[in-house]
Amino acid sequence: MSQVFAVPMRTRFRGIDVREGMLLRGDAGWGEFSPFLEYDERVAEPWLRAALEAADEGWPTPLRDSVPVNVTVPAVEAERARATVLAGGCTTAKVKVAEPGQHLADDEARVEAVRDALGPGGRIRVDANGAWSVDEAVTAIRRLDRAAGGLEYVEQPCASVEDLARVRRRVDVPIAADESIRRAEDPYRVRELEAADVAVLKVQPLGGVRACLRIAEDIGLPVVVSSALETSVGIAAGVALAAALPTLEHACGLATVQLLTADVVHRPLLPVDGALPVERPQVDPVRLAAVAPAPDRVAHWEARLAAIRQDRRS
Ligand SMILES: [Mg+2]
Repeated sequence: MSQVFAVPMRTRFRGIDVREGMLLRGDAGWGEFSPFLEYDERVAEPWLRAALEAADEGWPTPLRDSVPVNVTVPAVEAERARATVLAGGCTTAKVKVAEPGQHLADDEARVEAVRDALGPGGRIRVDANGAWSVDEAVTAIRRLDRAAGGLEYVEQPCASVEDLARVRRRVDVPIAADESIRRAEDPYRVRELEAADVAVLKVQPLGGVRACLRIAEDIGLPVVVSSALETSVGIAAGVALAAALPTLEHACGLATVQLLTADVVHRPLLPVDGALPVERPQVDPVRLAAVAPAPDRVAHWEARLAAIRQDRRS
């Protein structure tokens, strides 16, 4: 059994206004299959594996009953950044930096406002989404580390793994690899080049919770579990991974269902006191029906699923 969904985003994110995907139902429950629209069958195949794991097998036994999460602060001006942190109730903030058209001084002001809102005990990580050159990154990281009164880490300062490794050798702030880890083989490259101190893992692109647990064990780096902008059905898989990791040193990037205007479960996975509960939310048939798209989009997703299944057989 399957059901296609299309949920408008609150604000445009990652270049999309509507998040589309499919929920697949198996003996173990619902799984989310929501590869981004531009991905071909080969790239989308691990996303299907993750959905089938959720639907047919379920997940390993959790080792904790809640998962700390970060509030995300977009590249907004300082006052709004402060308000976002205060409203979030989280003790870790991820601050977007290096936005095109902005200056390092804007990032410094935003980071200072976030520190002010969090207080001295909070953790601040910044995410440059690969926008800096090596030299820009070294300068920016030193200045933002000062503005923050200490950074937890810097996520993806440069685009390539090689440049991450170069930056890492020149700064004291830990480096996290996010976009550098998208396919199952990528984490091993990050480890080989000693390019990062922290690995950001996402369940769907890496082929499921168990696949991510294997990667985490192999690479031996602290893991931050992040979402791929899923509904609460997909987020639950990220929570299951975070709950099953032997150690969890950092807050996870799983507080993202607020970015969607609707959800498909009775009780959406929203943070309470900076953490998500480790539970599998129940799909609400009424809410799911309310986000059913037009027949052409349903046909598109059914064809996409069929094509990947065909590929798997051949
Ligand atoms: Mg990132």
